[in-house]
Amino acid sequence: MLIDTHCHLDFPEYDFDRDEVILRAKEKGVEYIINIGSSLQGSRRALDLSEKYDCVYATLGIHPHEADTFELKLLQELELWAKKEKIVAIGEIGLDYFSRPPILCQSGSPLLSHSLAEKNYSKQENQRPLFVALIKLAKSLNLPLVIHSRQAEKQTLEILKEAMPIKAVVHCFSGPLEFLNECLSLGLFISFTCNITYKKADNLRQLVKLTPLEKLLLETDAPFLPPEGYRGKRNEPWFVHILAEEIARIKEIEVEEVAKVTTDNAKKFFNLR
Ligand SMILES: [Zn+2]
Repeated sequence: MLIDTHCHLDFPEYDFDRDEVILRAKEKGVEYIINIGSSLQGSRRALDLSEKYDCVYATLGIHPHEADTFELKLLQELELWAKKEKIVAIGEIGLDYFSRPPILCQSGSPLLSHSLAEKNYSKQENQRPLFVALIKLAKSLNLPLVIHSRQAEKQTLEILKEAMPIKAVVHCFSGPLEFLNECLSLGLFISFTCNITYKKADNLRQLVKLTPLEKLLLETDAPFLPPEGYRGKRNEPWFVHILAEEIARIKEIEVEEVAKVTTDNAKKFFNLR
């Protein structure tokens, strides 16, 4: 049995066949699915899914992309929902300093149609207070954290170190190696997605090799990052078995061992029964 510790089944990509996607995961040996909240509305939808499906647990979080528009007073809402039985963490929360280069039209000015997409990315000075406030909330509720960090490793570590002691997983881990070592030395968990199966992902496979199985969680981040062979398609929780097989191959151990240890890790981390 496996656990997909990070996916987004509340997204519209599943509106037409959500029941089937969850049933398929169960039939193919996914014991639990953790649906991650990434906005206020998304967190509410995650909570609703956890109440509708036995095998679904949920987290509540505000993604750093939301930082420009999210009002901190709305955290009261999350605090209320967090008391529900199947809420198992606060996340995904963190810092995302990735910025998309503007796409220029022939005259050299940014194309108007792309300025909308760029609005998804929030200012760094707004991301930090949101992240800090959500860590504080998690600590007050005694819940673990699901961390998103993209091109902001140094700043993420600063904030996490200041918040110690905390229980956290760094999701969709992509390095670099120094970041992995720092995270492990803080006792954090590391979760990898199916992008470790991509042909050019030797650096990620190296990081998998260096992460002790006892510190590893499995996630699909569905609908994003489908495994090699399914690229361009929608990802879904049952593909977590492809991830487990790849980790077994990289670590040269049996897939049953990967399943057993990572499932135990997830149950302890999220306090699942
Ligand atoms: Zn995610």
